Amino acid sequence: SKKAVLGPLVGAVDQGTSSTRFLVFNSRTAELLSHHQVEIKQEFPREGWVEQDPKEILHCVYECIAKTCEKLGQLNIGISNIKAIGVSNQRETTVVWDKITGEPLYNAVVWLELKTQSTVESLSKRIPGNNNFVKSKTGLPLSTYFSAVKLHWLLDNVRKVQKAVEGKRALFGTIDSWLIWSLTGGVNGGVHCTDVTNASRTMLFNIHSLEWDKQLCEFFGIPMEILPHVRSSSEIYGLMEAGALEGVPISGCSGDQSAALVGQMCFQIGQAKNTYGTGCFLLCNTCHKCVFSDHGLLTTVAYKLGRDKPVYYALEGSVAIAGAVIRWLRDNLGIIKTSEEMEKLAKEVGTSYGSYFVPAFLGLYAPYWEPSARGIICGLTQFTNKCHIAFAALEAVCFHIREILDAMNRDCGIPLSHLQVDGGMTSNKILMQLQADILYIPVVKPLMPETTALGAGAAEGVDVWRLEPEDLSAVTMERFEPQINAEESEICYSTWKKAVMKSMGWVT
Ligand code: ADP
Repeated sequence: SKKAVLGPLVGAVDQGTSSTRFLVFNSRTAELLSHHQVEIKQEFPREGWVEQDPKEILHCVYECIAKTCEKLGQLNIGISNIKAIGVSNQRETTVVWDKITGEPLYNAVVWLELKTQSTVESLSKRIPGNNNFVKSKTGLPLSTYFSAVKLHWLLDNVRKVQKAVEGKRALFGTIDSWLIWSLTGGVNGGVHCTDVTNASRTMLFNIHSLEWDKQLCEFFGIPMEILPHVRSSSEIYGLMEAGALEGVPISGCSGDQSAALVGQMCFQIGQAKNTYGTGCFLLCNTCHKCVFSDHGLLTTVAYKLGRDKPVYYALEGSVAIAGAVIRWLRDNLGIIKTSEEMEKLAKEVGTSYGSYFVPAFLGLYAPYWEPSARGIICGLTQFTNKCHIAFAALEAVCFHIREILDAMNRDCGIPLSHLQVDGGMTSNKILMQLQADILYIPVVKPLMPETTALGAGAAEGVDVWRLEPEDLSAVTMERFEPQINAEESEICYSTWKKAVMKSMGWVT
C-alpha cells in the first residue's frame, strides 16, 4: 500500500508564467500526493508590454502551500513529513525590490515582453569588439528576452529603482530570487540568491566561469552589488520563515526548463525534452560541453546538482508563444471558454482546411530571432470557421517545434529518435498526435506530467531523494506514433514556412 512506502516528502513550488503551483511528492516513489494550482494575472499596460505583480506571485505561492497542506491533512498524511522544498520558476522575468521595505519597485517585467526593443537596438550599436561579445560569454543573442535588458530599462526609466540603487537599497532578482528572499524572511534576513540555471538567463552571467561577468555588467550598466549570490541548483539556501511549512529547508532551485530536463531524467548526452507551456522549450543535454549553435539555438546551463557537482549544459530552442495562443483564443477572441475546449473544436473538423496561423505576437524567437514579426492567420476562405482556426493554432505549435527540432538535429549531428514531452498543453491528445505526425518520430509523454516540479524537488541538499533511475523508468508513458506519411507532412510544413516568411517585417 501507499502507506508502506511513504518516505520523506518533498515539496515543489512551480511558479510559471500562467500559473503558480505547489506539489508534494513521495521521495521514495516520485508519486504525486497532493497539489494546488492558482492561475496568475498578466497585465498588458501597453501593446507589447507584459507585467505581473510580484506580491501576487508570492501570495499565490503561500496560498498554494496552504491548500496543498490542507489536502494532505485530508489524506491523513502529516505535513511534518515534508523535509525539503524546491523552487522552479518562469525564467528571465525581472524584479527589483527594496531590501528595507520589502516592496517591489516596479511590476515584474515578464520574459516574453517587448518594451525593451529600443534598448536592445541602442545596445546593439555599441557592442564592444565583435558581435560575439555577448554570445560567447552567455550563450545568448542580444534580445528583449533576457533579464539584463529589462533591468537596464528599469534603471533607465523608473525613478524609484534609480533612487533605491543610489541609496544602496535595491535588490535585483529573477522570480526564484524574489521568492527565496521572501520565503526565507524577506526584510528579516531573507537570503538573496539564485542558481546557475536562472543566472544563465540573465545575460550577465558567464557560463564558462559560472560567475557574474564584470564586462557584461559594465556593458549593460548594471551595478554588481544588486545581483544575487549564485549557488548550485541543489543545496540548502535557507529555511521557510512562515506559513504551514515554517522551518523546512529550501534546498532546490532551478529555472523551469532546466527542472523539466531533470524531471524527465535527461541526464545523458543527447537526451532531450520539450515542454509545452506558455511558450515551448526544447532542451538537449550536451553534458559538460558548451555547444554553440549555428542554427539559432541558445546555449544555457542545464543544471549543477550540488555545490561540488559538475555543471551540465544544454542547447535550447525557445518558442515564445505556444499555450499563450490558446489563452489568446480564450481571452481575446472568446472562441473557447476553457483551454480544454480546444480539443473538441479541433476534433470536429480534423483539419485547418488550408489555413495557417503564425502567432508571432511578440516577434519570433528561435530559430529566427526576428523582433519585427507579428501574428498572421492566412489561407482563409469563406468556408473557414473557428474550428479550423483552432486547429491551425495547434498545428502552429507543432510546426514551430519541427523547425526547432531540425535546428537541433543539425547542431547535434545525431537526430532525435523520439521526443519526450511535458507541460500544460500536453493534456491535448490531438496536439500530441499532430506533433508526432509533423515530426515523423514518436512523441512520448510521462503520465505524471508534473516533471518540472519533480525536477525542482530534486533536493539533494538534504539527501532526501533515494530514487534509482529504474524507479523512474517504471513511470508509465503514453506514446503517440506518427500516422500520416512523411510526404504529406512535408507539404504542410513547407506551406507553414511560407506563412512564417509573411509574418516578418510588420514592425520596422
Ligand atoms: P506555464 O508553465 O508557462 O505557466 P503550463 O505548463 O501550466 O504553463 O501550461 C499552461 C498553458 O497550456 C496555457 O497557456 C494553456 O492555454 C495551455 N493549455 C492547457 N490545457 C490545454 C489544452 N487542453 N489544449 C491546449 N492548450 C492547453
